[in-house]
Amino acid sequence: MNAIRSGVYPYREIERMIGRARLNELIRRGHAEQLRRGWYRIGEARGDDVAAVRRGGVVSCLSALERHGVWVPADDRLHVRGNSWAVQHLRGPFCRQFGRPVPEAGAVDDLPTALRHAARCLDAEGFVVVCDSVLNLRLMHVEELEYLFRDAPKSVRLLIDECDPNAESGPESMARRRLRAHRVPVRTQVTIDEVGRVDLLIGDFLIIEIDGWEIHGDRPHFQSDRTRDATAFDLGYHTLRFTYDDIVFRWRATLEKILRAVRNGTHMRPAQRAQH
Ligand SMILES: [Zn+2]
Repeated sequence: MNAIRSGVYPYREIERMIGRARLNELIRRGHAEQLRRGWYRIGEARGDDVAAVRRGGVVSCLSALERHGVWVPADDRLHVRGNSWAVQHLRGPFCRQFGRPVPEAGAVDDLPTALRHAARCLDAEGFVVVCDSVLNLRLMHVEELEYLFRDAPKSVRLLIDECDPNAESGPESMARRRLRAHRVPVRTQVTIDEVGRVDLLIGDFLIIEIDGWEIHGDRPHFQSDRTRDATAFDLGYHTLRFTYDDIVFRWRATLEKILRAVRNGTHMRPAQRAQH
């Protein structure tokens, strides 16, 4: 007999995998239940999948992107896109995409569908951050992104030009974009001889490193960061280190520190600084 893994499935898929009789048997034994017309839970399914299908849709947008491993801004809500009946008859909230709705395929949307919905849920910065992550993880090429949003408003398509596949974290993408908005000359993931690759380089000599919280308590990493900073300093560089919280929750203070360093000419070649 064909097997089926625990999860939430549309009926047509269950029928293809195990057939109607086997589904009825699972329901009788309490191992499966109907969530809504045409959709069933088999075994222990994820709570989000069950909730989305019960609400008349499927997991999409930011919630689905997170499941695909994409970096998304912190958001506690379950992002659901409703089917056409649900959108007309239920309150939602439902995420929407640019252009016509597409049919549901599984309980969790594929990456392109989730991304098209996220484009309407996120602000400009959030969209760039998410697309950076998609590119950095090599889940899509920039040409695929452009094609995916070919019928989206121009404001969305212009944001794709701002994306940078080099960005290694959401806060790094945010810092890059916000600094450029202040006309700070910033480059991403620059390799410096003897120092290695740095997150952001302002001008030629001001290094900005954004430390992920996941390296806290990692002693070798902590040590190598300090050694790198000392080497960089010997070569005339200045390093400013910030955390996720510095970028996401304390941006004004962080920006002020960076702008002060730039005003002091820290980003210039040491010989130029004296004349600055
Ligand atoms: Zn959404």
